[in-house]
Amino acid sequence: MSSSIKSVVFAAGVAFAPLSIAQAEEDAPPPILFTNVDVFDGFSPDLLMDANVLVEGNVITQVSTDPIDMEGAFVIDGTGKTMTPGLIDMHQHVMLNPPEGTAAYQTRWDEASGGAIAQHHLVNNILMKGITSVRDIAGDPLDIAKAIDMGLIPGPRIVSSGGAISQTGGHGDWAGRNVPPGIIAEHADVTQASQNSWTVDGPDEVTKAVRLNLRRGAGFIKVMGGGGVSSEFDPLDIMGLSEEEVAKAVEIAADNGTYVAVHAYHDESYERHLRLGTRSFEHGFLISEDMVKKMVAKYKETEDIVWSFQCFMSVNSFGSYESMPAFFTHEQKLKGVRVGEGVRAMSKWMNEYDMFTIGGSDMFSPGLVEKIKEDITCNVDAGFTPAQALKHWTGNAGIVMAWSGPKNPYPSFHLGRIAPESYADILLWDGNPLEDINLILDESKLQLVMKDGRAYKNTLADSDSIMYRPAVSEPKVYP
Ligand SMILES: [Zn+2]
Repeated sequence: MSSSIKSVVFAAGVAFAPLSIAQAEEDAPPPILFTNVDVFDGFSPDLLMDANVLVEGNVITQVSTDPIDMEGAFVIDGTGKTMTPGLIDMHQHVMLNPPEGTAAYQTRWDEASGGAIAQHHLVNNILMKGITSVRDIAGDPLDIAKAIDMGLIPGPRIVSSGGAISQTGGHGDWAGRNVPPGIIAEHADVTQASQNSWTVDGPDEVTKAVRLNLRRGAGFIKVMGGGGVSSEFDPLDIMGLSEEEVAKAVEIAADNGTYVAVHAYHDESYERHLRLGTRSFEHGFLISEDMVKKMVAKYKETEDIVWSFQCFMSVNSFGSYESMPAFFTHEQKLKGVRVGEGVRAMSKWMNEYDMFTIGGSDMFSPGLVEKIKEDITCNVDAGFTPAQALKHWTGNAGIVMAWSGPKNPYPSFHLGRIAPESYADILLWDGNPLEDINLILDESKLQLVMKDGRAYKNTLADSDSIMYRPAVSEPKVYP
Protein backbone atom coordinates (compact mmCIF):
# COMPACT_ATOMS: atom_id res chain seq x y z
CA MET A 1 0.00 0.00 0.00
CA SER A 2 1.46 3.37 -0.91
CA SER A 3 2.02 5.67 2.01
CA SER A 4 -0.41 8.26 0.64
CA ILE A 5 -3.22 5.71 0.65
CA LYS A 6 -2.11 4.63 4.09
CA SER A 7 -2.41 8.17 5.40
CA VAL A 8 -5.92 8.50 4.12
CA VAL A 9 -6.89 5.19 5.73
CA PHE A 10 -5.22 6.34 8.95
CA ALA A 11 -7.09 9.65 8.91
CA ALA A 12 -10.42 7.99 8.16
CA GLY A 13 -9.79 5.51 10.96
CA VAL A 14 -9.57 8.32 13.49
CA ALA A 15 -13.02 9.48 12.55
CA PHE A 16 -14.80 6.19 13.08
CA ALA A 17 -12.94 4.13 15.68
CA PRO A 18 -9.95 4.57 17.94
CA LEU A 19 -6.86 2.90 16.51
CA SER A 20 -4.89 0.43 18.54
CA ILE A 21 -1.40 1.66 19.45
CA ALA A 22 0.13 -1.11 17.36
CA GLN A 23 -1.87 0.00 14.33
CA ALA A 24 -0.87 3.64 14.84
CA GLU A 25 2.81 2.69 15.12
CA GLU A 26 2.61 0.66 11.95
CA ASP A 27 1.19 3.64 10.07
CA ALA A 28 3.58 6.25 11.47
CA PRO A 29 6.27 7.15 8.91
CA PRO A 30 9.61 5.52 9.77
CA PRO A 31 12.53 7.66 10.99
CA ILE A 32 15.07 8.97 8.47
CA LEU A 33 18.78 8.72 9.23
CA PHE A 34 21.22 10.88 7.27
CA THR A 35 24.74 9.48 7.56
CA ASN A 36 28.21 10.90 6.97
CA VAL A 37 26.96 14.38 6.05
CA ASP A 38 28.66 17.76 6.62
CA VAL A 39 26.32 20.00 8.60
CA PHE A 40 25.86 23.78 8.65
CA ASP A 41 23.82 24.14 11.83
CA GLY A 42 22.40 27.61 11.11
CA PHE A 43 24.97 29.53 13.13
CA SER A 44 28.53 28.15 13.21
CA PRO A 45 31.03 29.27 10.55
CA ASP A 46 32.46 25.74 10.65
CA LEU A 47 30.72 22.68 9.29
CA LEU A 48 30.24 19.70 11.58
CA MET A 49 31.99 17.12 9.42
CA ASP A 50 30.85 13.52 8.86
CA ALA A 51 27.82 13.82 11.09
CA ASN A 52 24.70 11.68 11.46
CA VAL A 53 21.28 13.32 11.70
CA LEU A 54 18.10 11.56 12.78
CA VAL A 55 14.61 12.77 11.81
CA GLU A 56 11.62 11.30 13.61
CA GLY A 57 8.24 12.47 12.34
CA ASN A 58 8.59 16.20 11.67
CA VAL A 59 11.44 16.87 14.08
CA ILE A 60 15.21 16.46 14.21
CA THR A 61 15.94 14.37 17.29
CA GLN A 62 19.69 13.66 17.10
CA VAL A 63 22.78 15.24 15.52
CA SER A 64 26.02 13.41 16.29
CA THR A 65 29.43 12.49 14.94
CA ASP A 66 28.99 9.17 16.76
CA PRO A 67 27.01 6.48 14.97
CA ILE A 68 23.25 6.63 15.58
CA ASP A 69 21.55 3.30 15.85
CA MET A 70 17.89 3.47 14.86
CA GLU A 71 16.13 0.29 13.91
CA GLY A 72 13.87 0.52 10.88
CA ALA A 73 15.14 3.92 9.75
CA PHE A 74 15.45 4.91 6.08
CA VAL A 75 19.15 5.64 5.62
CA ILE A 76 20.26 8.45 3.29
CA ASP A 77 24.00 8.46 2.58
CA GLY A 78 25.19 12.07 2.85
CA THR A 79 28.77 11.47 1.70
CA GLY A 80 30.11 14.55 -0.13
CA LYS A 81 26.98 16.55 0.65
CA THR A 82 26.31 19.53 2.86
CA MET A 83 23.18 19.72 4.98
CA THR A 84 21.74 23.14 5.82
CA PRO A 85 18.49 24.17 7.45
CA GLY A 86 15.72 25.11 5.02
CA LEU A 87 16.12 28.76 3.99
CA ILE A 88 13.88 31.42 5.55
CA ASP A 89 13.02 34.56 3.57
CA MET A 90 12.29 37.13 6.28
CA HIS A 91 10.85 39.83 3.98
CA GLN A 92 8.34 38.51 1.47
CA HIS A 93 5.09 39.84 0.01
CA VAL A 94 3.58 36.73 -1.47
CA MET A 95 0.22 38.34 -2.30
CA LEU A 96 1.62 41.32 -4.19
CA ASN A 97 1.80 39.60 -7.56
CA PRO A 98 -1.41 40.55 -9.35
CA PRO A 99 -1.17 40.62 -13.14
CA GLU A 100 -1.06 44.40 -13.38
CA GLY A 101 1.87 44.94 -11.01
CA THR A 102 2.48 45.62 -7.36
CA ALA A 103 -0.46 47.74 -6.30
CA ALA A 104 -2.97 46.82 -8.93
CA TYR A 105 -5.63 45.09 -6.86
CA GLN A 106 -8.34 47.19 -8.48
CA THR A 107 -10.99 44.50 -8.81
CA ARG A 108 -11.92 41.31 -7.04
CA TRP A 109 -10.71 39.39 -10.11
CA ASP A 110 -7.23 40.76 -9.41
CA GLU A 111 -7.50 39.32 -5.93
CA ALA A 112 -8.47 35.90 -7.22
CA SER A 113 -5.72 35.76 -9.82
CA GLY A 114 -3.30 37.24 -7.27
CA GLY A 115 -4.03 34.29 -5.00
CA ALA A 116 -3.52 31.79 -7.82
CA ILE A 117 -0.24 33.45 -8.83
CA ALA A 118 0.89 33.53 -5.20
CA GLN A 119 0.32 29.79 -4.85
CA HIS A 120 2.25 29.13 -8.07
CA HIS A 121 5.26 31.09 -6.79
CA LEU A 122 5.02 29.62 -3.28
CA VAL A 123 5.53 26.15 -4.74
CA ASN A 124 7.74 26.66 -7.78
CA ASN A 125 9.92 29.61 -6.84
CA ILE A 126 9.98 29.32 -3.06
CA LEU A 127 9.48 25.83 -1.57
CA MET A 128 11.02 23.83 -4.44
CA LYS A 129 14.07 26.10 -4.41
CA GLY A 130 14.77 25.38 -0.76
CA ILE A 131 12.98 28.28 0.94
CA THR A 132 10.93 26.32 3.45
CA SER A 133 9.63 29.34 5.40
CA VAL A 134 8.73 32.93 4.63
CA ARG A 135 7.97 35.85 6.90
CA ASP A 136 5.33 37.70 4.93
CA ILE A 137 5.52 41.35 5.87
CA ALA A 138 2.63 43.20 4.12
CA GLY A 139 -0.15 41.48 2.31
CA ASP A 140 -2.64 38.92 3.47
CA PRO A 141 -1.88 35.30 2.56
CA LEU A 142 -3.37 34.06 5.83
CA ASP A 143 -5.89 31.74 4.17
CA ILE A 144 -3.26 30.25 1.86
CA ALA A 145 -1.03 29.81 4.94
CA LYS A 146 -3.84 28.01 6.73
CA ALA A 147 -4.52 25.71 3.76
CA ILE A 148 -0.80 24.85 3.55
CA ASP A 149 -0.62 24.09 7.28
CA MET A 150 -3.72 21.88 6.98
CA GLY A 151 -1.97 19.88 4.24
CA LEU A 152 -4.56 20.84 1.60
CA ILE A 153 -2.02 22.46 -0.75
CA PRO A 154 1.79 22.39 -0.82
CA GLY A 155 3.88 25.41 0.12
CA PRO A 156 6.36 26.81 2.62
CA ARG A 157 5.57 27.77 6.19
CA ILE A 158 4.20 31.33 6.25
CA VAL A 159 4.34 33.66 9.23
CA SER A 160 2.43 36.73 8.05
CA SER A 161 1.86 40.24 9.37
CA GLY A 162 -1.43 40.49 7.53
CA GLY A 163 -2.06 43.89 5.99
CA ALA A 164 0.60 46.52 6.54
CA ILE A 165 -0.50 49.47 8.64
CA SER A 166 0.03 52.87 7.10
CA GLN A 167 -1.23 56.42 7.43
CA THR A 168 -3.27 58.00 4.61
CA GLY A 169 -0.77 58.89 1.91
CA GLY A 170 1.88 56.56 3.41
CA HIS A 171 3.83 53.64 2.00
CA GLY A 172 0.83 51.32 2.40
CA ASP A 173 -1.65 53.65 0.68
CA TRP A 174 -1.86 52.13 -2.79
CA ALA A 175 -5.11 53.73 -3.92
CA GLY A 176 -5.29 56.03 -6.91
CA ARG A 177 -4.96 59.74 -6.17
CA ASN A 178 -8.73 60.34 -6.22
CA VAL A 179 -9.95 57.11 -4.64
CA PRO A 180 -11.60 57.66 -1.26
CA PRO A 181 -9.52 55.87 1.40
CA GLY A 182 -10.96 53.28 3.73
CA ILE A 183 -12.99 50.17 3.17
CA ILE A 184 -16.39 51.52 4.16
CA ALA A 185 -16.90 54.35 1.64
CA GLU A 186 -19.23 53.64 -1.25
CA HIS A 187 -16.40 53.70 -3.79
CA ALA A 188 -14.10 51.88 -1.44
CA ASP A 189 -10.44 51.35 -2.16
CA VAL A 190 -10.31 47.71 -3.25
CA THR A 191 -6.63 47.53 -2.32
CA GLN A 192 -7.77 47.84 1.26
CA ALA A 193 -10.75 45.57 0.80
CA SER A 194 -8.19 42.87 -0.09
CA GLN A 195 -6.62 43.55 3.35
CA ASN A 196 -3.11 43.64 1.89
CA SER A 197 -2.74 47.02 3.57
CA TRP A 198 -4.68 49.20 5.97
CA THR A 199 -4.78 52.98 5.57
CA VAL A 200 -5.61 54.21 9.05
CA ASP A 201 -5.31 57.46 10.98
CA GLY A 202 -5.17 57.89 14.74
CA PRO A 203 -4.51 55.42 17.57
CA ASP A 204 -8.07 54.06 17.55
CA GLU A 205 -7.91 53.04 13.90
CA VAL A 206 -4.44 51.56 14.46
CA THR A 207 -5.83 49.50 17.35
CA LYS A 208 -8.62 48.16 15.15
CA ALA A 209 -6.29 47.26 12.26
CA VAL A 210 -3.76 45.55 14.56
CA ARG A 211 -6.47 43.52 16.27
CA LEU A 212 -8.12 42.55 12.97
CA ASN A 213 -4.77 41.26 11.68
CA LEU A 214 -4.13 39.29 14.88
CA ARG A 215 -7.67 37.90 14.79
CA ARG A 216 -7.01 36.49 11.31
CA GLY A 217 -3.81 34.77 12.45
CA ALA A 218 -1.08 37.34 11.88
CA GLY A 219 2.16 36.39 13.65
CA PHE A 220 3.38 39.98 14.09
CA ILE A 221 2.54 43.51 12.94
CA LYS A 222 4.05 45.54 10.08
CA VAL A 223 3.86 49.32 10.16
CA MET A 224 5.08 51.98 7.79
CA GLY A 225 7.47 54.37 9.56
CA GLY A 226 8.36 56.63 6.65
CA GLY A 227 8.40 57.10 2.90
CA GLY A 228 9.06 54.29 0.45
CA VAL A 229 10.39 53.77 -3.03
CA SER A 230 7.51 51.89 -4.63
CA SER A 231 4.62 54.06 -3.38
CA GLU A 232 3.35 57.23 -4.99
CA PHE A 233 2.52 59.88 -2.39
CA ASP A 234 5.41 59.57 0.06
CA PRO A 235 8.87 61.09 -0.45
CA LEU A 236 11.59 59.08 1.31
CA ASP A 237 12.21 61.74 3.96
CA ILE A 238 8.71 61.95 5.42
CA MET A 239 7.64 60.26 8.67
CA GLY A 240 4.98 57.55 8.66
CA LEU A 241 2.85 56.70 11.68
CA SER A 242 2.83 59.36 14.40
CA GLU A 243 4.28 58.88 17.91
CA GLU A 244 0.86 57.98 19.34
CA GLU A 245 0.08 55.61 16.47
CA VAL A 246 3.41 53.75 16.78
CA ALA A 247 3.06 53.52 20.56
CA LYS A 248 -0.43 52.07 20.16
CA ALA A 249 0.69 49.45 17.62
CA VAL A 250 3.57 48.40 19.91
CA GLU A 251 1.24 48.26 22.92
CA ILE A 252 -1.40 46.07 21.25
CA ALA A 253 1.24 43.79 19.71
CA ALA A 254 2.93 43.38 23.11
CA ASP A 255 -0.45 42.71 24.76
CA ASN A 256 -0.67 39.76 22.36
CA GLY A 257 2.85 38.55 23.09
CA THR A 258 4.24 39.58 19.73
CA TYR A 259 6.11 42.46 18.09
CA VAL A 260 6.14 45.24 15.50
CA ALA A 261 8.32 45.42 12.39
CA VAL A 262 8.84 48.76 10.69
CA HIS A 263 9.46 49.86 7.14
CA ALA A 264 11.81 52.85 7.48
CA TYR A 265 14.81 54.38 5.78
CA HIS A 266 16.21 57.25 7.77
CA ASP A 267 17.49 58.25 11.21
CA GLU A 268 14.37 60.10 12.33
CA SER A 269 12.03 57.15 11.88
CA TYR A 270 14.57 54.63 13.18
CA GLU A 271 15.02 56.82 16.28
CA ARG A 272 11.24 57.03 16.91
CA HIS A 273 10.76 53.28 16.57
CA LEU A 274 13.84 52.39 18.62
CA ARG A 275 12.52 54.59 21.44
CA LEU A 276 8.94 53.26 21.26
CA GLY A 277 9.73 49.53 21.29
CA THR A 278 9.57 48.34 17.68
CA ARG A 279 11.72 45.22 17.33
CA SER A 280 12.34 44.45 13.64
CA PHE A 281 13.92 47.23 11.56
CA GLU A 282 13.54 46.75 7.82
CA HIS A 283 15.64 48.55 5.19
CA GLY A 284 17.32 51.55 6.90
CA PHE A 285 19.45 52.30 3.87
CA LEU A 286 19.75 56.04 4.55
CA ILE A 287 20.67 55.87 8.25
CA SER A 288 23.91 57.32 9.61
CA GLU A 289 26.84 55.54 11.24
CA ASP A 290 25.71 57.04 14.57
CA MET A 291 22.31 55.41 14.24
CA VAL A 292 23.95 52.07 13.40
CA LYS A 293 25.95 52.39 16.63
CA LYS A 294 22.74 53.15 18.58
CA MET A 295 21.09 50.05 17.12
CA VAL A 296 24.05 47.86 18.00
CA ALA A 297 24.24 49.30 21.54
CA LYS A 298 20.53 48.58 22.08
CA TYR A 299 20.90 45.05 20.72
CA LYS A 300 23.92 44.31 22.90
CA GLU A 301 21.96 45.49 25.93
CA THR A 302 18.61 43.80 25.28
CA GLU A 303 19.01 41.27 22.43
CA ASP A 304 15.48 42.18 21.39
CA ILE A 305 15.93 44.10 18.13
CA VAL A 306 17.07 43.04 14.69
CA TRP A 307 18.11 44.66 11.42
CA SER A 308 16.44 43.11 8.37
CA PHE A 309 18.59 43.41 5.23
CA GLN A 310 17.12 43.42 1.69
CA CYS A 311 20.38 43.16 -0.19
CA PHE A 312 19.41 42.42 -3.79
CA MET A 313 16.64 44.99 -4.06
CA SER A 314 18.76 47.80 -2.62
CA VAL A 315 22.14 47.00 -4.17
CA ASN A 316 21.15 45.47 -7.51
CA SER A 317 17.64 46.61 -8.42
CA PHE A 318 18.30 50.09 -7.09
CA GLY A 319 21.87 50.06 -8.38
CA SER A 320 21.14 52.64 -11.06
CA TYR A 321 18.25 54.57 -12.61
CA GLU A 322 18.21 52.14 -15.55
CA SER A 323 18.01 49.02 -13.33
CA MET A 324 14.79 50.18 -11.60
CA PRO A 325 11.60 48.13 -12.22
CA ALA A 326 9.93 49.29 -15.43
CA PHE A 327 6.60 50.10 -13.72
CA PHE A 328 8.23 52.76 -11.47
CA THR A 329 7.52 56.43 -12.18
CA HIS A 330 10.41 58.88 -12.64
CA GLU A 331 10.09 60.00 -8.99
CA GLN A 332 10.08 56.40 -7.77
CA LYS A 333 13.26 55.71 -9.76
CA LEU A 334 14.99 58.76 -8.26
CA LYS A 335 14.08 57.49 -4.77
CA GLY A 336 15.54 54.09 -5.67
CA VAL A 337 18.85 55.65 -6.73
CA ARG A 338 19.22 57.31 -3.29
CA VAL A 339 18.56 53.98 -1.56
CA GLY A 340 21.11 52.21 -3.77
CA GLU A 341 23.75 54.76 -2.78
CA GLY A 342 23.00 54.61 0.96
CA VAL A 343 22.98 50.83 1.33
CA ARG A 344 26.65 50.27 0.55
CA ALA A 345 27.81 52.38 3.50
CA MET A 346 25.26 51.25 6.06
CA SER A 347 25.49 47.50 5.37
CA LYS A 348 29.27 47.79 5.84
CA TRP A 349 28.76 49.46 9.25
CA MET A 350 26.19 46.84 10.32
CA ASN A 351 28.73 44.13 9.49
CA GLU A 352 31.66 45.93 11.12
CA TYR A 353 29.77 46.62 14.39
CA ASP A 354 28.29 43.10 14.36
CA MET A 355 24.58 43.95 14.41
CA PHE A 356 22.13 41.05 14.80
CA THR A 357 20.93 40.65 11.21
CA ILE A 358 18.36 38.68 9.22
CA GLY A 359 17.96 38.47 5.46
CA GLY A 360 14.78 39.06 3.53
CA SER A 361 14.57 39.31 -0.22
CA ASP A 362 11.64 41.74 -0.75
CA MET A 363 11.70 40.07 -4.21
CA PHE A 364 8.13 39.30 -5.16
CA SER A 365 7.07 40.56 -8.56
CA PRO A 366 7.46 38.44 -11.70
CA GLY A 367 11.05 38.66 -12.90
CA LEU A 368 12.31 38.88 -9.30
CA VAL A 369 10.53 36.08 -7.46
CA GLU A 370 12.25 33.52 -9.71
CA LYS A 371 15.67 34.50 -8.37
CA ILE A 372 15.09 35.12 -4.67
CA LYS A 373 18.25 33.25 -3.63
CA GLU A 374 20.35 35.96 -5.32
CA ASP A 375 19.56 37.98 -2.20
CA ILE A 376 21.75 35.52 -0.27
CA THR A 377 24.66 35.63 -2.74
CA CYS A 378 24.26 39.44 -2.69
CA ASN A 379 25.01 39.35 1.07
CA VAL A 380 28.41 37.94 0.15
CA ASP A 381 28.95 40.61 -2.53
CA ALA A 382 28.14 43.18 0.20
CA GLY A 383 30.99 41.91 2.40
CA PHE A 384 29.43 39.20 4.57
CA THR A 385 30.93 35.69 4.57
CA PRO A 386 28.92 32.81 3.06
CA ALA A 387 28.35 31.45 6.60
CA GLN A 388 27.03 34.85 7.75
CA ALA A 389 24.79 35.11 4.70
CA LEU A 390 23.32 31.68 5.41
CA LYS A 391 23.00 32.49 9.13
CA HIS A 392 20.91 35.58 8.23
CA TRP A 393 18.62 33.23 6.26
CA THR A 394 18.49 30.32 8.77
CA GLY A 395 19.58 30.48 12.43
CA ASN A 396 19.04 34.20 13.03
CA ALA A 397 15.76 34.10 11.10
CA GLY A 398 14.51 31.25 13.30
CA ILE A 399 15.22 33.30 16.44
CA VAL A 400 13.11 36.19 15.13
CA MET A 401 10.30 33.85 14.03
CA ALA A 402 10.01 32.78 17.68
CA TRP A 403 9.46 36.42 18.71
CA SER A 404 5.84 35.93 17.62
CA GLY A 405 5.34 34.15 20.96
CA PRO A 406 1.77 32.91 21.37
CA LYS A 407 0.99 34.13 17.83
CA ASN A 408 3.71 31.92 16.30
CA PRO A 409 1.97 29.31 14.11
CA TYR A 410 4.98 26.94 14.51
CA PRO A 411 5.60 26.98 18.25
CA SER A 412 6.66 23.40 18.98
CA PHE A 413 10.29 23.38 17.79
CA HIS A 414 13.06 25.67 16.51
CA LEU A 415 13.08 26.90 12.91
CA GLY A 416 16.29 27.44 10.94
CA ARG A 417 18.55 24.98 12.76
CA ILE A 418 20.05 21.55 12.27
CA ALA A 419 19.87 20.59 15.92
CA PRO A 420 17.72 18.45 18.20
CA GLU A 421 14.26 19.91 18.90
CA SER A 422 14.19 21.64 15.51
CA TYR A 423 11.58 21.19 12.79
CA ALA A 424 12.84 18.81 10.10
CA ASP A 425 13.20 21.53 7.44
CA ILE A 426 16.34 20.25 5.73
CA LEU A 427 18.28 20.82 2.51
CA LEU A 428 21.02 18.64 1.02
CA TRP A 429 23.48 20.30 -1.36
CA ASP A 430 25.88 18.51 -3.69
CA GLY A 431 29.02 20.41 -2.58
CA ASN A 432 29.75 23.03 0.06
CA PRO A 433 27.98 26.42 -0.17
CA LEU A 434 30.32 27.80 2.52
CA GLU A 435 33.17 27.44 0.02
CA ASP A 436 31.20 28.67 -2.98
CA ILE A 437 27.96 30.46 -2.17
CA ASN A 438 26.95 30.60 -5.86
CA LEU A 439 26.33 26.86 -5.63
CA ILE A 440 22.93 27.65 -4.10
CA LEU A 441 21.79 29.20 -7.40
CA ASP A 442 22.31 25.92 -9.28
CA GLU A 443 19.09 23.97 -8.78
CA SER A 444 20.76 20.71 -9.83
CA LYS A 445 23.00 21.00 -6.72
CA LEU A 446 19.94 21.09 -4.45
CA GLN A 447 19.25 17.39 -4.06
CA LEU A 448 16.78 17.26 -1.20
CA VAL A 449 14.14 19.69 0.05
CA MET A 450 12.46 18.47 3.21
CA LYS A 451 9.82 20.47 5.06
CA ASP A 452 8.22 19.22 8.24
CA GLY A 453 9.82 15.80 7.76
CA ARG A 454 8.51 15.30 4.22
CA ALA A 455 10.50 15.40 1.00
CA TYR A 456 9.21 17.79 -1.66
CA LYS A 457 12.29 17.38 -3.87
CA ASN A 458 14.57 14.35 -3.72
CA THR A 459 16.90 13.65 -6.62
CA LEU A 460 18.74 11.02 -4.56
CA ALA A 461 16.01 8.45 -5.07
CA ASP A 462 13.25 7.64 -7.55
CA SER A 463 9.84 8.80 -6.43
CA ASP A 464 8.64 5.18 -6.21
CA SER A 465 11.60 4.20 -4.02
CA ILE A 466 11.12 3.53 -0.35
CA MET A 467 13.97 6.06 0.16
CA TYR A 468 11.72 8.86 -1.10
CA ARG A 469 9.28 9.89 1.52
CA PRO A 470 6.58 11.59 -0.51
CA ALA A 471 5.10 14.92 0.39
CA VAL A 472 1.55 13.67 0.52
CA SER A 473 -1.24 15.84 1.79
CA GLU A 474 -2.50 14.31 4.97
CA PRO A 475 -6.09 15.40 5.46
CA LYS A 476 -6.69 16.31 9.06
CA VAL A 477 -9.85 14.95 10.59
CA TYR A 478 -11.57 16.93 13.29
CA PRO A 479 -13.99 14.81 15.33
ZN1 LIG B 1 8.90 45.08 1.48
